[in-house]
Amino acid sequence: MDHGTSLLLGLEGVEVVGVSVGGPDGRTRIVDVGTSDPAASCCPGCGVRSTSVKERVVCTPRDIGYGDAPIMVRWNKIRWRCVNSECARGSFTEAIGQVPRRRRTTTRLRETIGRAIGDAARSVAEVAAGHGVSWHTAHGAFVDIAATALTDPAPTSVLGIDETRRGKPRWVRGGDGRWVRIDPWDTGFVDLAGDQGLLGQVTGRTSAVVIDWLAAQPAPFRDAIEYVAIDPAASYAAAVAVALPNAQLVVDHFHLVQLANAMVTKVRRRVTWDRRGRRGRSTDPEWANRRRLLMGRERLSDNKYQKMIADLRAHDPGNEIFAAYIVKEELRALLAMARSRPRVDDSQIRERLYRFLDLCAQVNVPEANTLARTIETWWPGICAFIRTQVTNAATEGTMKRPGFSSESDEGESETCLRSSVRRPATARYGWSTTVRPWKGAREQSRSALWRRSWGSVWKPCGSGATVTVRPTHTPTRRSRSSRRIADFAANWPNHAERTRS
Ligand SMILES: [Zn+2]
Repeated sequence: MDHGTSLLLGLEGVEVVGVSVGGPDGRTRIVDVGTSDPAASCCPGCGVRSTSVKERVVCTPRDIGYGDAPIMVRWNKIRWRCVNSECARGSFTEAIGQVPRRRRTTTRLRETIGRAIGDAARSVAEVAAGHGVSWHTAHGAFVDIAATALTDPAPTSVLGIDETRRGKPRWVRGGDGRWVRIDPWDTGFVDLAGDQGLLGQVTGRTSAVVIDWLAAQPAPFRDAIEYVAIDPAASYAAAVAVALPNAQLVVDHFHLVQLANAMVTKVRRRVTWDRRGRRGRSTDPEWANRRRLLMGRERLSDNKYQKMIADLRAHDPGNEIFAAYIVKEELRALLAMARSRPRVDDSQIRERLYRFLDLCAQVNVPEANTLARTIETWWPGICAFIRTQVTNAATEGTMKRPGFSSESDEGESETCLRSSVRRPATARYGWSTTVRPWKGAREQSRSALWRRSWGSVWKPCGSGATVTVRPTHTPTRRSRSSRRIADFAANWPNHAERTRS
């Protein structure tokens, strides 16, 4: 056969010996190839070249497509006897770089599939169907490519740890026939100081999995970590204490505000039950104000605020709901010290904490006391947040990218076990995603530190001059909000009748 035909096929290690048209559909181009790589006749056990043919075998490795009609590569290869009497291997079949042993797909097809899934973020099932291979073959190809694309994470000074749900909770029958509830969660590790994005993801959300992942990282990586941002989760705190004893734990403010909001809702529901012996209805003033109660004071107009207070006073003689609202706003004011300029010193932070705890003690609402205890428990981490402004928001943003939380079948979850995903080049490979990764993810990782997103940033522009880039949260709006929080907080004693009774 003309050498040009082999060049056209372009499959290294083989040469074309004939092309015919046939196959089950009558239009498949069957390309018969023979081995041209001399190394193929060397025994894989001892490396000695064999000259003794045992038998001839035909295999049809699946290859990339070319043209409209299907192509079938038919490789007539030889099974050799090993001529080395000291070799344990009796015989072996030929193998080349493009078609290794026990592979039924060519290396170049596997690379094409892997890159289609990783680079173009196409679904495994769709790429598998497009190339006529099984789902598991396509996924295996993707995993191979991901393994080469992923490198060890570079050291970072701020590490974010957060959990994300992996699929819905469900019941499965265990080996002993009993039903077990599976509630799948993953833990992600995110670079909050740089732009590496997701550094790794492991199955589970226990201390053990966090400790294991950190232990698997090189010592310079662990030593470089100064701050670890987490949600108030005891398992993560315990893991950080063990694995990174020198790092400062920083508790995310967002979850603390969430806890405070939950506290307000609990108090409102309890008061409704106590007073009315039933759950809230739209005619109850506290129910009508339920969303307003969760809003920050600075987001309520004076009229709405006064109306809410009047409603609550008229229908909650114990003032418990309003007291809970004040406690929530006090906590927000405490956390808002992170943004105050000039920076607050430690004595100011302590004074504000005392004010919050003192208020909780005075109002003496059980739910507020619980919140106060939680704040006390987590205080070192909260104080670190106020001092450093490190927040876990970017971790959540990364973990909640559609590609990272997509519910997929069992096979696809295997990649998550081994994924150690990073941006920019490697982020695409971490997940066998059925959803295109969220485009805003990279931007979000940059706003890891509040000061980057809250203040104006000076940035050189094309002409060499510097221009001010104003982020979405404009300073004007922020300063007004802060002032209103401050004014509001200063007037607490006038509002808090309950504290006097
Ligand atoms: Zn041998």
